[in-house]
Amino acid sequence: MTATRTRTVKTIKIDVDKCNGCRACEIICSSFHATPRYSSINPARARIRVIREPLQDVYLPVFAGEYTAAECAGRDKYTIDGKEYDECAFCRAACPSRDLFKEPDSKLPLKCDMCESDPTLDVPWCVKWCLAEALIYVEREEEGEPAAAVEDLDIGLVAIANVHGWPKVLDAVNRMAKKT
Ligand code: SF4
Ligand code: SF4
Repeated sequence: MTATRTRTVKTIKIDVDKCNGCRACEIICSSFHATPRYSSINPARARIRVIREPLQDVYLPVFAGEYTAAECAGRDKYTIDGKEYDECAFCRAACPSRDLFKEPDSKLPLKCDMCESDPTLDVPWCVKWCLAEALIYVEREEEGEPAAAVEDLDIGLVAIANVHGWPKVLDAVNRMAKKT
């Protein structure tokens, strides 16, 4: 009998009512992921962005999910508790429709990695820095294998090819392979 494998799924629950739009989460995320680490702050490079409509009292933190090459066909406006949210407001994808969650220079997609580092943090940085407690870190165990790193590699390659074209990507890969 084969043993069932479990994996830890990490996520962040968002309490929209508590968010005050301070953007501390964007600052620390971009700083933690800067190269070298903590060397710069640029919210455009953050893997969490806060949609802010102060006149409507809308403050909505959204952290980056998977990259998708397809434009979504099902955009809707949402009205919740009398507040109107933009048609793409709740979406976590980096996609061709908008510039959100794309590295500003290379246009490569950005994805939240739960601040995975060595040593692992007990709680991701954006959660630590959210003094309003709008971000709540949650872990749960699920049956199944860990997500394959190769899937992320595929996503990265497709994104680079979308910017530079496949011939250039293949050229670069060939050149690099010859050096190794
Ligand atoms: S740090 Fe918290 S309160 Fe401030 S913008 Fe981010 S989620 Fe909202
Ligand atoms: S968990 Fe880490 S990588 Fe993800 S949005 Fe928060 S600070 Fe950024």
